[in-house]
Amino acid sequence: MFVSLVSFFMVFLILFSTTAFSLMISTNESTVVPRLKGYYSYDQLTTLLQQLHSQYPTIFTYYSIGKTYEGRDIWVIQLENTQSTKQNKTAVLYIGGMHGNEPLGSETVIYSMKAFTENYTMAYVNQSFTEQIRHIIDNVTLYFIPMINPDGIEAGTRKNSQANQCPFGAALYCGVDLNRNFPYAWDKLDEYPFQYRFGHWNAQTFKDHPIMFLMSKFPTLFFPTTIKYPLGDIEVFVPFLKGGHYRGPAPLSEKETQAIDSFVANHSISLAVDYHTPGEKILFPWYSSRDPSPDDAKLRAIASNLSSINGYELMQGADWYLTAGCIMDYLYTKYNILPFTIELGSLKHPGDFMSKNRIHDICETHILVNLCLAEHALI
Ligand SMILES: [Zn+2]
Repeated sequence: MFVSLVSFFMVFLILFSTTAFSLMISTNESTVVPRLKGYYSYDQLTTLLQQLHSQYPTIFTYYSIGKTYEGRDIWVIQLENTQSTKQNKTAVLYIGGMHGNEPLGSETVIYSMKAFTENYTMAYVNQSFTEQIRHIIDNVTLYFIPMINPDGIEAGTRKNSQANQCPFGAALYCGVDLNRNFPYAWDKLDEYPFQYRFGHWNAQTFKDHPIMFLMSKFPTLFFPTTIKYPLGDIEVFVPFLKGGHYRGPAPLSEKETQAIDSFVANHSISLAVDYHTPGEKILFPWYSSRDPSPDDAKLRAIASNLSSINGYELMQGADWYLTAGCIMDYLYTKYNILPFTIELGSLKHPGDFMSKNRIHDICETHILVNLCLAEHALI
């Protein structure tokens, strides 16, 4: 709650700055019209995937890696030149829509997937851009999961649609925050319940505020178990903001996190990016510890190249705020993937405030960011 509010008010103080690029995707190729707010719905995404597969069958395939609680498919798009003779190709993974109330992340992944596909066969922008795209798709496999939480996207909620077991759980407290449900450091919430709920606060801040200090000394008194019930995750106030950070009853307890776990386990992925909003930041491990990771220099070098395109601030995830059970530390430790979170834009709910043109500009800028990340897979 505190984190959400701070972020929400902070955004009004941050100046927006993205560079507009010339149009990189065709405007008349698809009959799919994104809905009024400017974002693809789940059904529109599904129709788009069918169209792209029928138009570009040699490079574009897609399949479901699991079903959500409301029965939607979690789509993975695989973009690669299936006729390429290159051996032992590495892969890059692009994720969006983990938090359903942050649809700009999902939209950004969809735009890049569409732009890469269309520009592979025809130079919509220019020949040089097409040659860059071809070089990537001929030598790297690109995976896109634009809606890892399609139920949340449809409902406009941060969490998924798994009912909780607490009173009014199915209505008010429905759902699990998928980005708190991954196995790495999931237990840190038990060990340091206060710190991981108030991640922006450091130890000195607690000492400076007697009430907070007292609460941090007796956390279980103020924050009862969060294993079965989400109430301890400050959910009491959050349903009205369509938020909440409930981590679920166990690591990988959710259909969506299980789906991504088995997908990643069976594919050779070297780099990943997960899109969220807001903050205009590029984050990298660790998120659950303020110590530098063993790959700190490498991560900063890549983040710096990405930042030269979108102008975002780069920092270690935990230096923004501590997070337990997030996908980034898990991908990094379990699968040796170099993962980044990009926090897009400067508003929490861009659909409520942001013009279609601005959404479009951000998506176009990140086509180049995503291309740059893919190029790092070849270095
Ligand atoms: Zn998010």
